[in-house]
Amino acid sequence: MNLAELTTLGLGGPARRFVRAATEADLIEAVRAADASGEPLLILGGGSNLVVADQGFDGTVVQVATTGLRRGPGAIGGPRGSGGKGFPPGAAGVGGGSLPPGQHRLVTVAAGEDWDTVVAWTVAEGLAGLECLSGVPGRAGATPIQNVGAYGQEVAETITEVRTYDRVTGQTTMIPNDRCGFGYRTSVFKRDEARRHVVLAVTFRLAEQSASTPLRYPELAAALGVAPGDQAASTEVRSAVIELRRSKGMVIDAADPDARSVGSFFVNPVLDAPALAAVEAAARARYGDGTRVPRFDAGDGLVKVPAAWLIERAGFGKGYNLGDGARISSKHTLALVNSGSATTASLLALARRIRDGVHDTFGVSLTPEPVLVGVTL
Ligand SMILES: Cc1cc2nc3c(=O)[nH]c(=O)nc-3n(C[C@H](O)[C@H](O)[C@H](O)COP(=O)(O)OP(=O)(O)OC[C@H]3O[C@@H](n4cnc5c(N)ncnc54)[C@H](O)[C@@H]3O)c2cc1C
Repeated sequence: MNLAELTTLGLGGPARRFVRAATEADLIEAVRAADASGEPLLILGGGSNLVVADQGFDGTVVQVATTGLRRGPGAIGGPRGSGGKGFPPGAAGVGGGSLPPGQHRLVTVAAGEDWDTVVAWTVAEGLAGLECLSGVPGRAGATPIQNVGAYGQEVAETITEVRTYDRVTGQTTMIPNDRCGFGYRTSVFKRDEARRHVVLAVTFRLAEQSASTPLRYPELAAALGVAPGDQAASTEVRSAVIELRRSKGMVIDAADPDARSVGSFFVNPVLDAPALAAVEAAARARYGDGTRVPRFDAGDGLVKVPAAWLIERAGFGKGYNLGDGARISSKHTLALVNSGSATTASLLALARRIRDGVHDTFGVSLTPEPVLVGVTL
């Protein structure tokens, strides 16, 4: 199996062995077998946050294709019911299913479920907390890995627990939110180089209301004609988010050549006061005294500076390329795109050029957001 067929970048060489696991038992068995044989293991969701070497992966790739969604915490079992976008209608399980209106409900999702289908279902069910995460590609089980976030929401705010198969103990285990080590685009799962935990299911605590959670992202609030901090109907929020994302090439769309990416290639750097002062000085020297470096409060005296702004101001505009098939998206400076003839090597050469250019200009080291498999930046 060629991994290029399974990644949104359309890049990556062959896997030595490939297993598609449609049930939780098959998933655990495939992981156990790979671990017992001592082979390297790569867990694959939707391949939307992976940069895989042109040489491929010399080990077992296990694609998570499990399905199931239920109200309440705990294990997911049994076949899918009908209704509600293919999910069981009403309360298929226990727990949150019997809460009165105005309360919160627990929803547990199998790792292999398509994330946007899950979001669409919650919005249709009148459950708020995930609506701003509409249109993010990939599977539900990957959302805790980098604490998926967009338009003012991140899954760390609603995840109550993550059920995993622990490759060290050989047991399934429940990891509560406060032990997930969530941070900006990171978690214990992403930081752990040994990839100890295979996510089996994720439980979310969602508000039972048709209105969204308060809208923190000014661009989204403006698109909906409300002030930041206000709420809007979740259905409208979902539509607005998808429209905004589409305008930036940030939804998977075979007809959009800018969508062949991993989304944002770099995380927004979080800077302390001296680092910000250095960026401001460099920006003034280059662009004049009136230049203001955009920033968002990141707590503890730190600020987050948009990586896209740094990249553009360092001289890498939309469409920038080195002539070998990899380029910056024509819609969003933070997305690196395979225009059709790129290789992983050429994509990384472009990423290095941008990283080094930003460092030379502003003294800021950009770090990649996707998981790099068999390659380094
Ligand atoms: C167009 C586009 C837009 C994007 N926009 C956003 C955005 O707005 N916000 C955002 O946060 N991300 C965004 N992303 C990145 C990506 O969609 C998310 O990180 C997503 O959660 C990845 O899911 P996946 O199933 O494709 O994971 P994969 O790419 O298959 O895997 C990513 C990592 O997670 C691990 N993994 C996957 N499933 C499991 C599991 N069940 N157990 C253990 N480890 C697992 C993999 O081994 C790998 O290390 C975007 C990507 C694209 C292509």
